[in-house]
Parts: sequence; structure tokens; C-alpha cells
Amino acid sequence: MTFTASYAGTCVSCGGRFGAGAEIEGVGGGGFVHAVCPPSAIDRQRPACPTCFLELPASGVCGECS
Ligand SMILES: [Zn+2]
Ligand SMILES: [Zn+2]
Repeated sequence: MTFTASYAGTCVSCGGRFGAGAEIEGVGGGGFVHAVCPPSAIDRQRPACPTCFLELPASGVCGECS
């Protein structure tokens, strides 16, 4: 059951912040999660190299192919 946050906090599911007034849901252990986690927070996968399909490092340059 979701409710409106009365103060800002951190979602224990995606690790993202939510502000007061956000739709959140309580979970066991006293944590809170977004009612719907933002897609950007869930999908943190880095792009893959188009040549070898390995995950690219933060630099964006493939260590295998360059
Ligand atoms: Zn979340
Ligand atoms: Zn590569």
C-alpha cells in the first residue's frame, strides 16, 4: 500500500532519493521504496561494446578492442 512521503528519504530498492510528497511504500525493516522506481535508477547498465559486447567502462572506451 502506497502513501505520500511526509519527508524526504532514500529508496531501499533502487537507492534513489525521494522528496516529501512523493508516492512511496513501506517495506519490512522500516525502509521505504518508491511506489514506482524511476527507470533511470533501475537501469544503470552501461552500454556494451558493439564489437565484443563486453560492458564498457566509465570511460566509454573498450579495453578489449582499443
Ligand atoms: Zn526506488
Ligand atoms: Zn570491445
